[in-house]
Order: sequence, then structure tokens, then C-alpha cells
Amino acid sequence: MMQSPVVPSFAALLLGAVMTCAQDNKPAESLPPKDKEAVSEETVKRALTVDDLPVPDLAALPRTLPPEAKLSYSQTHVPGKVIAYTFDDGPHPQNTPRLLDMLKERGIKATFFLIGKSAATWPDVVKRIVAEGHEVANHTWDHAQLTHMKESSVLQELQSTHDAIVKACGVAPILYRPPYGAVTMSQKKMIHEHLGYPTILWDVDPEDWKAPRSAEKVHDEVIAQTRAGSIILCHDIHPTTVDAMPRTLDELKARGFQFVTVTQLINLDAQTAKLLPPPAPKEPKKTETETSPKPEEKKAEPAKEEAKP
Ligand SMILES: [Zn+2]
Repeated sequence: MMQSPVVPSFAALLLGAVMTCAQDNKPAESLPPKDKEAVSEETVKRALTVDDLPVPDLAALPRTLPPEAKLSYSQTHVPGKVIAYTFDDGPHPQNTPRLLDMLKERGIKATFFLIGKSAATWPDVVKRIVAEGHEVANHTWDHAQLTHMKESSVLQELQSTHDAIVKACGVAPILYRPPYGAVTMSQKKMIHEHLGYPTILWDVDPEDWKAPRSAEKVHDEVIAQTRAGSIILCHDIHPTTVDAMPRTLDELKARGFQFVTVTQLINLDAQTAKLLPPPAPKEPKKTETETSPKPEEKKAEPAKEEAKP
């Protein structure tokens, strides 16, 4: 089995967790004690849920996409309260630097989905985003709604932005987010084929762009919606959103959330998927020997990925 360099230690930690799990929370159909020594990987997988897995060293998570990366993400399935905070539509000459100060003060790494035209206009802000350890990603040249466009124009929107980001900071983006979350399945595939980008959507949306804007609303919605594995959507072009950040970030931290970039979150999701059983198929077969139902933590793929006006 091919594994990325960080996986072995994660797997070792996992085995430790499994042994503990097997002893402490004895599942209904646990192994007889004699077999404990020889817990096969397959058995381990059946006994575990994501909550049993240890959280690996987050700083060591790769910043390149794993081979198992999916075509599209709205949220992820990860051990621990790990999340990715994303900021769209920048860079903005005043609001983005103000946000960067707040992130720096708290040691938080975020992901910025940049507008190509703005990246070309304010390259110094893009440079600072990268210099401070954040991820830069593609959000089209001028916030075009891709579903209204032909293939060649879609690629042009993304390629020109890709080039502008590279020119501004020397780093090539590896992710994109369609404006308004509007993209078709065939566009997702076409974009992945040509640019290698997975599509990044979100599961937490405080609608910070919507009038009347208020820092209070941003804070309350983000806190209410955020879960382990969440991808949070905000916009650093709005002063109210940036105003909301100190309190929002501090509260997320106080609630135990840890922040990584989207690419790191994708890596954690991929590592987790390797260690857990695949999602249950339609109808698990019931037999007489099955005395108690297993707690299926089924957080299925979000279905509402496509259009969001
Ligand atoms: Zn946007």
C-alpha cells in the first residue's frame, strides 16, 4: 500500500488507539482476547470510527494534493476538531492586511481564494499572504459565474488567474472555488483535467456578503455552523467580516478547533479514509448474530453541492 511519509506515524498512533479502544469500549462483537495480538488491519477498520483516531501532527500535513484527492469538497471527514477557514474575493488593499494581522497574532493558517484581477492589482498583499504561511487559491479573474460560460472561457478565467497569482507571489495555486458555488459536474471534470484543481465548496456560510452586514451575524453563524472537518466561507473584502474575526477566531479556538489550510484538510481527509471502513453500502446485511446496531457515523457526501445563487 502506498503511503505518504506522514502516514506511518499516524498509523502507529492509530494502532495504539485501536488497542485502547478494544480494551475500553468493548464493542458488541469484539475479538476474543486471544486474538488481540493479531489485530489485522481489516479488523481494526471494522472496529473504528473517526472519533477513535488520534489527531496527527497538523503542521506536518502536506501542502500538496494527495493522489486520492476527490473531485470536489464541501466538508471533510477528519479526526479531531480540525477545520479550514477560507476567505474569498480578495485580495483587498486594506481589509486583507488587517485580517492577516489577526491571523498572525493567533497563529492561524487560512486559505485565500483570490480574484485574478485583484491579485494583479495588489501583488504585495498576495506576497504577504504566502509569506505568512497561508494558502492561495483560484477564484476566477473577475468573479464570473462559470455555469453561464463555454469551456474555453471557463479555462481562460482560471488560467489567467493562475498566472496572475504565480506572477504576484511565485506560488502556483492547486485549488479553485467557483464564484457563487455555481459549477456543473462536467465543468468540474473539465477543470480538473486541464488544471488539476479539485473544486472547493463549503459547509459553513454566514452569508457575510448579504445586507444588512454585521460582525455579530458573521460571528454567530460561524460559531453555530462549524463542525469538525468544516470548510468555512467568508469574504475578506467586507470590513464587517474582518471586524468579526477576532471574536470568532478566539471562540473557535476556545471550543477546541484547530486550523489548517484546505489542502492540508484534504490530506487529513484522505489519510482518514485509508484508516476507516468505506461508507456503509445501501443496506447492511442483517444476520441473527448481529445483536446490537453499530453506531454508524454516516456523514454522507453533501448533496447540495451544485448551485448556490
Ligand atoms: Zn466569491
